[in-house]
Amino acid sequence: MIEGAIGLRMVTNWIGGKAEDSRAGRSGLVWDPATGEAQAHVHFSTAEDVDCAVAAAKAAFPGWRATPLSRRSETMFRMRELVDRNRRHIAELITSEHGKTLSDALGEVARGLENIEFACGVPSLLKGGYSEQASRGIDVYQIRQPLGVTVGITPFNFPAMVPMWMFANSLACGNTFILKPSEKDPSVSVYLAALLREAGVPDGVFNVVQGDRVAVDRLLAHPDVKAVSFVGSTPVAKSTYRTATDNGKRVQALGGAKNHMLVMPDADIGMAADAAVSAAYGSAGERCMAISVIVAVGGVGNRLRDAIRDRIARIKTGPGLEDGSEMGPLITGEHRDRVASYVTQAAGEGADVTVDGRQDPIRRRPGFFLKPSLLDNVKPGMRCYDDEIFGPVLSMVRVPTYEQGLTLINDHPMGNGAAIFTRDGGVARQFQFDVEAGMVGINVSIPVPVSYYSFGGWKASLFGDLHMYGPEGVQFYTKAKVVTARWPDASSGQVDLGFPQNR
Ligand code: NAD
Repeated sequence: MIEGAIGLRMVTNWIGGKAEDSRAGRSGLVWDPATGEAQAHVHFSTAEDVDCAVAAAKAAFPGWRATPLSRRSETMFRMRELVDRNRRHIAELITSEHGKTLSDALGEVARGLENIEFACGVPSLLKGGYSEQASRGIDVYQIRQPLGVTVGITPFNFPAMVPMWMFANSLACGNTFILKPSEKDPSVSVYLAALLREAGVPDGVFNVVQGDRVAVDRLLAHPDVKAVSFVGSTPVAKSTYRTATDNGKRVQALGGAKNHMLVMPDADIGMAADAAVSAAYGSAGERCMAISVIVAVGGVGNRLRDAIRDRIARIKTGPGLEDGSEMGPLITGEHRDRVASYVTQAAGEGADVTVDGRQDPIRRRPGFFLKPSLLDNVKPGMRCYDDEIFGPVLSMVRVPTYEQGLTLINDHPMGNGAAIFTRDGGVARQFQFDVEAGMVGINVSIPVPVSYYSFGGWKASLFGDLHMYGPEGVQFYTKAKVVTARWPDASSGQVDLGFPQNR
C-alpha cells in the first residue's frame, strides 16, 4: 500500500507476487465505519489491469500444477501457521474497514482458517478411483485435475473468510487464483496475498485485482479464466452466473438471504430468544446467515417478543475496537440510511415497531451506527419481509400452525439457511425433511457448516450446482478425467471394429 492523493494510503493490486505501484485512473474511498471518515483510497482496476493479472496467473499455472501434492499441502500448512500467528492483525484490519467488533472479526478469521486446514489434506482429497481388470488386461481409473486460472469475487461482509473459502481449495488443487475483493474493505486481501507469498506460494499463483464492475466484467469475459466463484447479493450473483456461463466458464454464485427461524410452542423461550438476538444483531445483521425473520407458532409470539426486547435493551452498540462493544456500525452511511428506511416503511405498512433503533442517540455519532430494531406482526408483501435488509432489523411473523410457518418459509424466494427451535425431535426431523433451504439449524440459529461439509443455499440464494468449500469445493476446482489403460501383451492383440465391450 502506498500514499495516494490527499494524504490517504492507496490500496493497490497484487500481481505476480508483489503489490503494484499506484496507477492513475479511477479509485474509491475506503471508510472507517466507526468514525465515518475516509481512511484510504482503493484502486479501481481497468480491463488492462485485469489482463495483467490473468497473464500472471496463466504463466504460473503449469509450474504450480506440476508441484507435488505434498509440497502444495506443506505450503497450506505454512499459510495456516501464518494466519494463526497473525489472527489479531487480520481481525484489526477487518474491524477498521468493515466495522464489526474485534471478537466477531476474530471469529471470522477462525472460520476462514478452518478452510485452510481442510485444504492441507488435499493429497487425500484428490485420491481418485481405480478399477482393475475392467476388461481383460484393461484397467480404468479416474483422476481429478485443476482447471487453470480461477477467480473469486467476494462481498464486503466477510473480507477474510469468504476469500479463504475459495482460494484455499483452489490453490491446493493446483489452480492459480485471482481475487476481486469488495471495494469497501479491500486491505485484508493484500495482507493475505503477502502471507501466501511468505508461505511459499510462487509469484503469479495468487493475485488480487481491486475495483468494481469494470474489473468484474473483464474477469467474466476473459477467455483464459476457467472458473468463477462469486459471493454477494442475489441480483449480482444472478447476472454473474449468466454472464460467466454464457462465456463458457464454470460458475458457483452465492447470493443473498432471508433466513427464517421457526419457534414452536414447546421451545425453550430463553434459549430461542438468546439465539435469535445473537443471530439477528451479531455483525449488525450484515451476515448472509443472519436470522432476519422469527416465525412464532401458535401463541408463542408475546413471550418471545418480550424476551427478545429485554435482550435487545442490553446490547452495547459502539466502535468495534472499543472494549465492551457487542455490535458495531454498518458498512457505510448510505447503507445505514437504507436499513433505517425499512423501519420507517414497515410502520407505514402496518407492522408494529416494537423496538425502534432509529430513535437512539448513537445515530447522531459520526460513525455509521444504527441500533437494533424489532418489528412485530410482519406479513408477506411488506417490504421489510420480502427484501433482504442486511442490517440490525428483526421481523416477527405470527402463524397459528407449523404447516403455515413452513409454507411461509418455503414460499420465500431465498433459501440460504433456516432454523427450528423445539423440544420435539419428531417435529425437528419433519422440518429438516420439508424445509427448502440449503443449511438447516435444529436449535442452532446460525448453521454455517464446518469446513469438511460444504456451504450453500437453495433457490435464489445460489446459482450453479456446487456449493462452496469442503468436498464440493474440491469438486468445483477440479475436473475429472477417466483413463482406460492396457499395456502391450502380444497374446491379446487383434483388430476388432466392433464397439468395445467388457469381456
Ligand atoms: P454485492 O453484490 O454488492 O458485491 C459483491 C461483489 O460483487 C463485490 O466484489 C462487488 O464489487 C461486486 N459487484 C457489485 N456490484 C456489481 C455489479 N453491478 N457488477 C459486477 N460486480 C459487482 O454484495 P455486498 O454488498 O458486497 O455483500 C452483501 C451481500 O452478499 C448480501 O446480499 C449477502 O447476503 C451476500 N452474501 C451472501 C453469502 C452467501 O454465502 N450466500 C455470503 C456473504 C454475503
